[in-house]
Amino acid sequence: MSRSVLVTGGNRGIGLAIARVLADNGDRVAITYRSGEPPQELTEAGVLAVRCDITDAEQVEQAYKEIEEKHGPVEVLVANAGITKDQLLMRMSEEDFTSVLDTNLTGTFRVVKRANRGMLRAKKGRVVLISSVVGLLGSAGQANYAASKAGLVGFARSLARELGSRNITFNVVAPGFVDTDMTQVLTEEQRKGIVGQVPLGRYARPEEIAAAVRFLASDDASYITGAVIPVDGGLGM
Ligand code: NAD
Repeated sequence: MSRSVLVTGGNRGIGLAIARVLADNGDRVAITYRSGEPPQELTEAGVLAVRCDITDAEQVEQAYKEIEEKHGPVEVLVANAGITKDQLLMRMSEEDFTSVLDTNLTGTFRVVKRANRGMLRAKKGRVVLISSVVGLLGSAGQANYAASKAGLVGFARSLARELGSRNITFNVVAPGFVDTDMTQVLTEEQRKGIVGQVPLGRYARPEEIAAAVRFLASDDASYITGAVIPVDGGLGM
């Protein structure tokens, strides 16, 4: 059955792969994107693309209004949008820290809270948050990013407890290193170092993350909530 799905940051990378797989599933998919133009392949496939910066509560409200008008209340939310601003602690400005928290954690709070309005009314809902193996292991030079991604785990598990009785599930996918724009900033040497630590010996493809999200959003995962599913080639074990 076609569901109203929202994928934040669905214009590229992991979010794009998730939007593709859910659209192929027959869902009514909406994506938000922060800048640029949404990919033509998505708009041609009937995906609704809404420009929205999740650090701005008013833009989040407007995006939901448009999605609800065109697709109905969001039944499946994939909170994927995120940023990095890597820096060693002594060089990390307060802005480097707060902007990453404001996007990755508070931005996720904004979109989850708004989606839950409709989910509570419908007495069902699926929320999948995209964290990172870095949130579980930590990473030198990424204290801001790791704090935000670890925060998502506590956030999701609290909501899983708070809203389980309302038939809303909250699960987390924790990818390892994935071939996207986000990881293009790494040098060849850094990439080799990372790959050397991954038991499967390679980066993930965005589609491999999307497959786990599709499962958690499906009826097959109806009894799973508060779970953190690593999709990391074994890096975090
Ligand atoms: P990406 O940089 O290609 O995509 C990030 C997306 O987030 C973009 O669509 C961007 O528009 C959106 N975004 C960023 N700030 C936003 C804001 N303020 N408002 C709205 N949208 C915003 O990165 P990606 O690799 O596809 O990452 C997707 C998610 O997966 C992120 O949360 C990231 O932290 C996480 N992740 C990525 C990796 C990796 O190796 N690439 C590993 C673990 C987790």
